[in-house]
Amino acid sequence: MSSRSPSDDFRPRRPSPSSGGPRRPRRQTETNLAMGDQAPPAQESPAEAAPLPTFADLGLTPETLKAISDVGYEEPTPIQARTIPLMLAGKDVIAQAQTGTGKTAAYALPMLERIDREIRDPQALVLCPTRELAIQVAGAMHQLGRYHHATTLPIYGGQPIDRQLRALSHGVQIVVGTPGRIMDHMRRGTLDLSNVKMVALDEADEMLDMGFVEDIEFIFEAIPEERQTSLFSATIPPRITALARKYLHNPQRVSVSVSRVTVANTAQTAYELPGGNKFDGLTRILDVETPQSAIIFCRTKNETNELAERLGGAGYTAEAINGDLPQSTRDRVMRRFRDGQVDLLVATDVAARGLDIPDVSHVINYDIPTDPEAYVHRIGRTGRAGKTGEAITLVAPRERYTLRMIERVIGQQIIVKRLPTLADVAARRREAFKAALTGVLEEGNLGQELLIAESLSDQFDALDIAAAAIRMARGDVAQRLDEAAVTTLDGDAEGVEQGMTRLFIGAGRTAGIRPMDLVGAIANEAGIPGKSIGSIDIYDGFAFVEVPSADAQRVIQVMSNTNLRGKRVNVSIARPRDEMDGGPPPRRDRRR
Ligand code: AMP
Repeated sequence: MSSRSPSDDFRPRRPSPSSGGPRRPRRQTETNLAMGDQAPPAQESPAEAAPLPTFADLGLTPETLKAISDVGYEEPTPIQARTIPLMLAGKDVIAQAQTGTGKTAAYALPMLERIDREIRDPQALVLCPTRELAIQVAGAMHQLGRYHHATTLPIYGGQPIDRQLRALSHGVQIVVGTPGRIMDHMRRGTLDLSNVKMVALDEADEMLDMGFVEDIEFIFEAIPEERQTSLFSATIPPRITALARKYLHNPQRVSVSVSRVTVANTAQTAYELPGGNKFDGLTRILDVETPQSAIIFCRTKNETNELAERLGGAGYTAEAINGDLPQSTRDRVMRRFRDGQVDLLVATDVAARGLDIPDVSHVINYDIPTDPEAYVHRIGRTGRAGKTGEAITLVAPRERYTLRMIERVIGQQIIVKRLPTLADVAARRREAFKAALTGVLEEGNLGQELLIAESLSDQFDALDIAAAAIRMARGDVAQRLDEAAVTTLDGDAEGVEQGMTRLFIGAGRTAGIRPMDLVGAIANEAGIPGKSIGSIDIYDGFAFVEVPSADAQRVIQVMSNTNLRGKRVNVSIARPRDEMDGGPPPRRDRRR
């Protein structure tokens, strides 16, 4: 593998006039063939090879392309670029891909393309190790298959079986489930796999680690031999190879490799956000880091628009830049960014690549990039020409593995830091204010202001006058933040029961939420017995509920996809600020 200087690809590029869009850089990807297949090993793409394909190049139908555009994906990730054509051609595939690489769409898209609309029986089966993943994959299938009108059903333990039975009896074409519950249905005779022609194993190594190997074998035995099987796994230990040898036919092995590069002048850190409110995490980081200028990377066009809007609403100057914007708008946004009228540019990889972006003080990965090479491209926007820069990556606990993979490829450690607390943010703001005030004092020339201070000095102490002026200058937000950082709150003072986690629910009494709604939703959707749900506090605009800590992430995931009194609500781990945002209300409904 040749090593490349990152600067080759970071050189600013203008969109190529012939393609009408930004030129894609070349990436080195490889498809290896595994386990005695007959086909010759795939050629490694040399540096001058064709650019990464577009989704249209992969042979997907217009319906699929439209669904992809709706979710906001601009170009295939490397694993998608390699896997989709193979799967469309009916080949079995072993893909080494971890969470965050776009692996779900890599198998979901070709599976959706090959569903026969006329047949109402299960034709595709996806096996996942956990119910969270099953729910997530079924959601992705649903979104990406919206114009195929394919019916998808997640089947997992913990959900009432009747609901699954009802759905199955109506006819389901794609089943996404955990092995245990799928076997349950097979034994009951409620899931017929005799028409299944495609099977995908997601997180196969996890499934084996969790002891599902016999279940998987049991399921495979019930599926016709003339099927396409794909296996996705972060690691390919011998046990996976053995499983593949038994159940896959002449599999094509796909992995994505990248050249080792160093990114010397950039300090790289990551913040792990334990579920919940990512936006809040970002604003804390921005407040503490106070970037002069930053590019914030999102995965999709839709996310760039949404995030820029939310940042604007929170008082930052941010603009989105993505492939959907007309050239004139892009030019205007870029002019404003270069002139310093906009501090934060919220971009997709594709949009950023085609732009002549000046060196920025910070690159922030709001979404962790889908492959290490994209990471290197992104962070090369800072720390150029001998200057130092900061690269910050937000990671969910599930994405730690992806972060480790990036570390391995760049050959550098990325320090994972604790998210700044409200006290950190308040302290940073105080420091910044003091620095600005010092500047004004040093500049002097305070004639008029001194006259006002003097006229008050008969009545008040000089320090009090200065403090009052500071309060006026800093405004309410800073004061509230200071208070929130030091106040011991009602909820905290009482303490959360040991082993329990307090969750914040973004709707309350005004939305008609009652304790029974929360208990009902958590018990039914997340499969947690009502009696193990702890105290519930319902305020006007929001609510808190305590759940067993071991189940907290699952409850967040499930509740975020569940309607509460007809609406989707925000659910996250509660922090003191959540209670402060509305001010501790005088009245609340409480259940113990
Ligand atoms: P996965 O590795 O399947 O868990 O996907 C990780 C994230 O990447 C998900 O949020 C997907 O929606 C997103 N994603 C998948 N493919 C693409 C793509 N081609 N462009 C942008 N985002 C993508």
